[in-house]
Amino acid sequence: MILFIKSVFLFSVGMFLLVNPVTTAADQIKITPKDLVAPLSSKLKYPLTKNESISCGRWGNKSQDYPYFGAPRDRNTRNHAGVDIYPQEGVGAPVKALADGTIIKIAPFYTRANGEVTYGVLVNHGDFVVNYAELKRPDIKVAAVIKQGQKIGVISGTKQLHFELYTKGTTDWLRWYGKQPDNLIDPTDMLLTLFSKNR
Ligand SMILES: [Zn+2]
Repeated sequence: MILFIKSVFLFSVGMFLLVNPVTTAADQIKITPKDLVAPLSSKLKYPLTKNESISCGRWGNKSQDYPYFGAPRDRNTRNHAGVDIYPQEGVGAPVKALADGTIIKIAPFYTRANGEVTYGVLVNHGDFVVNYAELKRPDIKVAAVIKQGQKIGVISGTKQLHFELYTKGTTDWLRWYGKQPDNLIDPTDMLLTLFSKNR
């Protein structure tokens, strides 16, 4: 009986997948950075890519603090869902919207060892969704409509913008355990293009 229920369940899941193919981040249309602006104006203090951040010497072997997408966190039990972008300006550097959009969530994101609470600001940009995180408490409100280049907050004491990119329709940020979540996109290429203008 249990086996029968199991088979019916698996069959139903199979049919569901056939009718509704799962769209993974990789299948999504590539986001063209052409019409976007970089989220920070200043030049970057450290590199963004895996290879460059490892070879730059800022972080030690087996560090749980590398800035690149997918880097190990929490003693290798979790992966870094974003890219950490360190502007030369440091604390207080303004963070700007890549494109027009609507604020869909503002919430505490990460609390530093010294007790400082940093915030995430989730913005629906239409074709994609961005979490601009590790900001000081922003002045902006949920549901606010924002323009491209508008300041949505400033860099906190972590001296970095933690930047997460999601597929269209995403309504919340996530923590990455196990396989890469289907709605989470690697923003590295997009960011390299955007920041190539700041170098
Ligand atoms: Zn980060």
